[in-house]
Amino acid sequence: MYDVYKIREDFPILGREVYKHPLVYLDNAATTQKPRVVVDSIVKEYYSVNANVHRGVHYLSQLATELHETSREIVRKFLNAHSTSEIIFTRGTTESMNLLAYSFGEAFLKDGDEVIISVMEHHSNIVPWQILQQRKKIVLKIIPMNDKGELLLEEYKKLFSERTKLVSVTHVSNVLGTINPIKELIRIAHEYGIPVAVDAAQSVPHIPVDVQDLDCDFLAFSGHKIYGPTGVGVLYGKEVLLEQMPPYQGGGEMIQSVSFEHTTYNTLPFKFEAGTPDYVATTGLAKALDYCTTLGMENIALHEQELTRYAMDKLNQLGDIRIFGEATEKDAVISFQVGNIHHLDLGTLLDRLGIAIRTGHHCAEPLMRFLGIEGTARVSFALYNTKNEIDTLIAGIERVRKMF
Ligand code: PLP
Repeated sequence: MYDVYKIREDFPILGREVYKHPLVYLDNAATTQKPRVVVDSIVKEYYSVNANVHRGVHYLSQLATELHETSREIVRKFLNAHSTSEIIFTRGTTESMNLLAYSFGEAFLKDGDEVIISVMEHHSNIVPWQILQQRKKIVLKIIPMNDKGELLLEEYKKLFSERTKLVSVTHVSNVLGTINPIKELIRIAHEYGIPVAVDAAQSVPHIPVDVQDLDCDFLAFSGHKIYGPTGVGVLYGKEVLLEQMPPYQGGGEMIQSVSFEHTTYNTLPFKFEAGTPDYVATTGLAKALDYCTTLGMENIALHEQELTRYAMDKLNQLGDIRIFGEATEKDAVISFQVGNIHHLDLGTLLDRLGIAIRTGHHCAEPLMRFLGIEGTARVSFALYNTKNEIDTLIAGIERVRKMF
């Protein structure tokens, strides 16, 4: 049984008030709240373990290293990766994508080569490729979508050429909520012999993701969006590709030996992890993943999809509302506009009622341009949200509407 009210007790912040209203937190696509086990693990590690990892012979350093590397194994298991060599700790999806664009770009891309992305990408899967364009004159090709917010597979197939070197696409849109048919996108790319990188920032926290089943070549996600700490994330990559890619940053940890004449690099995954990692955050991330595993990712997905359907129905019943993203396969994100109320006004007034939503372009300006809008209001759900909270949101929107 999925007892959402019992689950909520694990998240102390959900009990607080905002402007004398009980907090209704519906900005989970931006970041999620943290369960007690995650916060406790951070406090405990700083109070009783703290020491730098990998380099120390002393007891605490070894203990911290053990926690850090156990966390890597927990991530590996969570994604069903083949080996911990394929799990690179980063600061989050953004850093993962920058690492990928830099290093994959160095190893495999030449002037005139092409990378396929989609119209619904977050800036973190656009701008790193544009930065690469300044070093190498690569071409970005864009998969279009239909009015429901679904990628057009036939158009996608037409984008491949002999210059295509990579497909880099989001699994779930942080604006439209569309769950892209990622397995199919990967299968098609592989038919052309092209590797695929998946921005899984909005999928790993919400639906089961198995990298071997997807057969993706790279996959990125952020810890803070899956109930873990800020400042930690993951880049998964197939060993055979990572082996051929150069380091992203230089410094401690990523070397085997250094002299002024010649430096050799460490083995995977350390080659990509220069400097002291946030080893306390990796432990917190592992606790968050364990928390999700205990609840069951399938159960979390079912709960959130029920919330999404419920909210879609309720919003549609309001009338005079425009919803962006009505894909058949839709996840826990709903973007909308109410009448001609500016999204910023809506968000600000809902906030006064204790309801936290997001407004703006959601770091997807090209998508906004494609939709011909400036921004939207967005609600996004997590494993602890309830139908009651959606009712509060709807009542809040009605109240705001009366004010206009
Ligand atoms: N990709 C998508 C689809 C996202 O929704 C986000 C964050 O909202 C990111 C990437 C960037 O994540 P982060 O800011 O944690 O690096």
